[in-house]
Amino acid sequence: MANGKIGVTTENIFPVIKKFLYSDHEIFLRELVSNAVDATQKIRTLSAFGDFKGELGDLKVSVSIDKEKGTLTVSDHGIGMDAEDIEKYINQIAFSGAEEFLEKYKDTANSIIGHFGLGFYSAFMVADKVEIRSLSYKEGAQAVEWVCDGSPEYSMNPTDKSERGTDIILHIDADNKEFLEQSRIDALLKKYCRFLPVPVVSGKKEEWKDGKMVATDEDNIINSTEPLWTKKPSELTDKDYLEFYHELMPGQEDPMFWIHLNVDYPFTLTGILYFPKVHTNIDLQRNRIQLYSNQVYVTDQVEGVVPEFMTLMQGVIDSPDIPLNVSRSYLQADQQVKKISSYISKKVAEKLDKMFKDDRKGFEQKWPDIKIFIEYGMLTDPKFYDPASKFFLLETVDDKFYTLEEYRSLVESTQTDKNGELIYLYATDKTAQYSYIKGAEDKGYSVLLMDGQLDNHIVGLLESKLEKVRFVRVDSDIPERLIEKEEKAETGLSASQQTMLDLLFRASLPEIKDANFIIGFENMGENGAPATITQNEFMRRMKDMSQLQPGAGFYGQLPDSYQIIINTAQPAVVRVIKETEQEIGADFNPLEKETEEVNERISNSRKEAGDKPADTKEDEARLTELRQKEKELVDAYAAKATLPKQILDLALLRSGLLKGAELDAFIKRSVSLL
Ligand code: ADP
Repeated sequence: MANGKIGVTTENIFPVIKKFLYSDHEIFLRELVSNAVDATQKIRTLSAFGDFKGELGDLKVSVSIDKEKGTLTVSDHGIGMDAEDIEKYINQIAFSGAEEFLEKYKDTANSIIGHFGLGFYSAFMVADKVEIRSLSYKEGAQAVEWVCDGSPEYSMNPTDKSERGTDIILHIDADNKEFLEQSRIDALLKKYCRFLPVPVVSGKKEEWKDGKMVATDEDNIINSTEPLWTKKPSELTDKDYLEFYHELMPGQEDPMFWIHLNVDYPFTLTGILYFPKVHTNIDLQRNRIQLYSNQVYVTDQVEGVVPEFMTLMQGVIDSPDIPLNVSRSYLQADQQVKKISSYISKKVAEKLDKMFKDDRKGFEQKWPDIKIFIEYGMLTDPKFYDPASKFFLLETVDDKFYTLEEYRSLVESTQTDKNGELIYLYATDKTAQYSYIKGAEDKGYSVLLMDGQLDNHIVGLLESKLEKVRFVRVDSDIPERLIEKEEKAETGLSASQQTMLDLLFRASLPEIKDANFIIGFENMGENGAPATITQNEFMRRMKDMSQLQPGAGFYGQLPDSYQIIINTAQPAVVRVIKETEQEIGADFNPLEKETEEVNERISNSRKEAGDKPADTKEDEARLTELRQKEKELVDAYAAKATLPKQILDLALLRSGLLKGAELDAFIKRSVSLL
């Protein structure tokens, strides 16, 4: 009989383990099964190199529960341990400053366990007594039994065990009875051990017999030892990939396509990334990549570990270079993991580039579905932008696709404005902006369709990356001014007429909630629309952006503000000008003339007064009076004039702003005009 003390510097390591590592109790099972799998693979290796000449036998690992005895046993037929091994690997845990370290990392049990090779000792998180029964593969080895009840004292004695390998027997403590439930253990094994390279058996398979489930003789193997990602892509069919996908992500519709990663240098890394169809809510799709280290499940909390945009993808990544037993914050800070992450990003870009080059048509067909991934990548990962800009596609409203380079040469000659800036016109809604698109196309311009969830941001990104390129939405100005080329034609209106018409159109405008209108006059040729409503690009973008933020921000609270451009050359408008002049010109013009005079007097008195306050009270009162008179005059006329209302309503209708009672009034008026 041999008794001893486990070689740690603190007397009370076990209470510390129990106390601080409670949050991740369940990982003990992963630790013990991984050890068993390691021992199994070691014997395989020894055998392959001729260093072990005996029979390998059945190499499965099994996990069994004995409810009566209250034990959980993990057994393997691996290399086993003799007394010397146990002394070296189990008794002498290399551990210094245990308490101090545990105190510091008390919330991240994972990191400590991996860090200090405490895998085996995690058994004490759930057990008050642990036994090891082991027979080493070494010739003539004596089987040993080690028992420890959770104090630093243990006993180690020879025993009789005829089969090579190790049994780890956990006497589950009162607080952790859940680990004696078959369903709990099966669920854990499914989570952590599903793809381990050695068969893991958990009880027997069950079948329906006489109306109830009964155990059969067949082992219940919970893992697939050769998961798809470990195989050669050339040996796999689409069906294999789809089946694996559904095994991994039950209840999902088929993915669009996938990338099989297979890298040996500078890291060993394999994996399969699936691109799911993204419908609306991006967030719902996160955290669907599982990280493995040599087929042992590490985590599916991959944010900060894989490039941000890849959190939209699904699948597995397996690399022995991903540390197994560490917390997420540790993973995120790990330099090696960072390198792996940017390497994955590079590989994904290469793969997409190859797809694009090999089959451009197919790539274009997939574009509407994959563009969200690519855009997300370009927006969030600076390293992804450059490679992606080679296969990023711009789609036009007539369903043609261009790379950034192709598009520049397409529009360079027609869409460069007078300042040498290249204007990319875009629409966000083909139907709603139909007439604006048509207007731009009639001028020979190309119009892009930017209707994706992230296109708003991509517009900003491309503007910052592409040289001398500005994006302008088709409805943000009249076609003539979308791309400013030369000086504008004269409106032909006198200042007085302009004031009069401004009042007239303003009075003719229906009441529209949460919208402001500014009226302007422009000569857009007799074939142009009589009136066009546009929304300033800058304001619209600000509002769009602030809508994405909670609380809507400053811009979000502003009413929508539109510009109405009246085309002074269009025949109907020409008629309005003429008729207004005839009807009220004789009364209006003198008022306006006096307004000008009073205005001038006010500014003169201010000049004369210099620093002193000027006495302009009387003039200002007169000015208000004049304005009032002008307004009354025009309002009275506007009330009976139908043409200005008709012109405005048509423009509002075209922009989708005419609704409800106003729309009804328009229809009634139109009918009466017929
Ligand atoms: P780690 O696995 O991180 O090295 P552990 O505390 O889990 O730390 O195990 C310590 C050592 O004990 C292992 O490296 C291995 O040599 C030995 N060991 C543990 N479990 C087994 C087992 N089932 N069969 C053979 N050796 C084992």
